[in-house]
Amino acid sequence: PYEVLVVGQGPAGAAAAIYLARKGIHTGLVGERFGGQVLDTMAIENFISVPYTEGPKYAAALEAHVGNYEIDVIKSQVATELIPATEPGGLHTVRFGDDAALRAHEVIIATGAHWRLMGVPGEQEYRNKGVTFCPHCDGPLFKGKDIAVIGGGNSGIEAAIDLAGLASHVTVLEFMPQCLADEVLMDKLNSMPNVDVITNAQTTEVLGDGEQVTGISYRDRASSETGQLALSGVFVQIGLVPNTDWLAGTLELSPRKEIVTDRRGLTAVEGIYAAGDCSTEPYKQIVVAQGSGAIAALSAWEHLIRQQTV
Ligand code: FAD
Repeated sequence: PYEVLVVGQGPAGAAAAIYLARKGIHTGLVGERFGGQVLDTMAIENFISVPYTEGPKYAAALEAHVGNYEIDVIKSQVATELIPATEPGGLHTVRFGDDAALRAHEVIIATGAHWRLMGVPGEQEYRNKGVTFCPHCDGPLFKGKDIAVIGGGNSGIEAAIDLAGLASHVTVLEFMPQCLADEVLMDKLNSMPNVDVITNAQTTEVLGDGEQVTGISYRDRASSETGQLALSGVFVQIGLVPNTDWLAGTLELSPRKEIVTDRRGLTAVEGIYAAGDCSTEPYKQIVVAQGSGAIAALSAWEHLIRQQTV
């Protein structure tokens, strides 16, 4: 068995594994797709100390850094079940389908999240060509341009407020008859001169010229009338879904399905930690995920030395 098994090979999992290996801990790093969500993006401009990199390049650097250490890397494996130890100091089991399992004294879960998609024509085709999911990451690309934010919940309205400071004009499209964001956010949004909100709006297609987004079409759900907006960018803000389905019933999940952790990354189950986008750690960003992975790793290490198993 491993002393610590890290599940998930994104920024959080890689950081956790490196911190553990540097403490001489026998560490396994297992996951589905090395690099995680960053593989789905191009420009990364807020990974501090690296002014510009690209998703696939960052993922390759992550893997190379992990490769500098004695970490047992197991790729292309999807965890399907976590079976916590039945007694203090016992081994936890992570299952991968019916036939495979790994065991460890401590487990760090860093399985990340994925953005909920609209599922309309053009959305995939124009991903990174005007369709984007991360205002903190891509907002500056749309300085002085007309854009839309899809979704009038808290994250959509926060995104619209943020982007209105950069973009020429922001249109928020909300599917329901009214936005569901907190009143204080709506008041702020309504005070901004360059923002419109269209409610009851079902986005039906992302339009483009083959290279870039040029607009969207939508249907008014009340009147069934259709409309089009000319735009350079579409920020989809209809939810970030943590990859935690496989843990339901085993670990405590928040209403948003994030693994509930304390400040040190510990879950309610002794010896099981979570880090990054799959956890309740706030703000889903690379630097945050890495920091969160480091915290979980140091917590796991501290727990191990206190148990004197290392
Ligand atoms: P992830 O990156 O999601 O990694 C999770 C890992 O777990 C993956 O390896 C995945 O394959 C694996 N996994 C999932 N489920 C299982 C399972 N059941 N079993 C085994 N493995 C599993 N942040 C920035 O700071 N700057 C940016 O410019 C930026 N741009 C972004 C652009 C896009 C399009 C997206 C989607 C996100 C962007 N982000 C950006 C956010 C950033 O990518 C995330 O905050 C960060 O990747 C979270 O890291 P993580 O390790 O927690 O999770």
